[in-house]
Amino acid sequence: MQAAVVVEFQKALVLREAVIPTPGAGQILVKTEACGVCHTDLHAAHGDWPLKPALPFIPGHEAIGVVAAMGAGVSLVKEGDRVGVPWLYSACGHCEYCLAGWETVCAGAQFGGYTQNGGFAEYLLADPNYVAHIPAGLAAAEAAPLICAGITTYKGIKETGAKPGQWIAISGAGGLGHLAIQYAKAMGLLVCAIDVDEGKLAHATRLGADFVINAATGDPGAALKKETRGGAHGVLITAPSLAAFKQGVGMTRKRGTCVLVGLPPGEFPVPLFDVVANCITIRGSFVGTRLDMAEALAFGAAGKVKADIELQPLPAINSIFGRLEHGDVPSRVVLEFPAS
Ligand code: NAD
Ligand code: ZN
Ligand code: ZN
Repeated sequence: MQAAVVVEFQKALVLREAVIPTPGAGQILVKTEACGVCHTDLHAAHGDWPLKPALPFIPGHEAIGVVAAMGAGVSLVKEGDRVGVPWLYSACGHCEYCLAGWETVCAGAQFGGYTQNGGFAEYLLADPNYVAHIPAGLAAAEAAPLICAGITTYKGIKETGAKPGQWIAISGAGGLGHLAIQYAKAMGLLVCAIDVDEGKLAHATRLGADFVINAATGDPGAALKKETRGGAHGVLITAPSLAAFKQGVGMTRKRGTCVLVGLPPGEFPVPLFDVVANCITIRGSFVGTRLDMAEALAFGAAGKVKADIELQPLPAINSIFGRLEHGDVPSRVVLEFPAS
């Protein structure tokens, strides 16, 4: 099978022939139909984070495909089922977090396209207990962005606690952000989109954003507080930029919640007095559980959320990474795999 492999951090991925893996007991083999390219894949290939993947590895955690083979003892799925292999590849199922519905922070979790090979390949292995079940009527390429960008923003919006009729500010209107705007509108929120690119902001308006701010031309906090009379009840930072994180706190209304989902390497300064005196909550959010996944996909199946996708073949991966790094991907690139 053809696969795009990270052989060395910070270097181009290598396209090469790899052996189709054989599913062991309790595993399934998925034949990839489509796989979205997330900014996280770029962080992974750069070795940006403290916990680094072991080299070499195949990235890709928005993989959609059909079950092609099953190892012993698998009964949850059957051959031909369409499934998604997400970032939360598996978890232990027994720790206090798994038991409490917080499997996303399980210490035993494996991550697709990071600690386990992912979907930048014609086949990949998966744990049938953790795959996404793709609703009928949702095409593979349309479903792909929903299993990371979709679930992450859907969950992140819920984590802000913003209620219908209240304001949410979404910083970053790219792969994650363009879906966040749609989820937030579908959830009855007023949406302010913030980006540094006029094209992304024009698109945000087309997707239903009520107000947009270009963070490259001034302080988004001041503009947002004026428009909303005090700031957003919920703020979701998807931008892979430390500047956006600092601005996020400045956009948050008194007693509001600023949810961090973007993952640029590094740290950002927190204006302590403002956070304390305004009773602001700053909260991290990491993808979502299997229940969040089913809910996030249901919005897609109902036509309430639709990913904007640009289809590309696997060999284009290095030029796609180059564009992603420079903010030149309008929404989401999805790698499309030939049917046979
Ligand atoms: P993307 O490149 O598609 O989109 C990023 C957007 O942010 C672009 O539109 C860009 O113009 C905009 N941007 C850049 N600097 C900005 C700034 N200062 N202010 C406002 N907007 C700015 O990336 P993506 O695929 O949407 O991923 C975004 C981030 O989210 C990455 O760091 C990724 O690793 C992270 N992520 C986190 C989770 C999680 O579970 N927490 C899940 C998926 C992705
Ligand atoms: Zn992702
Ligand atoms: Zn666990």
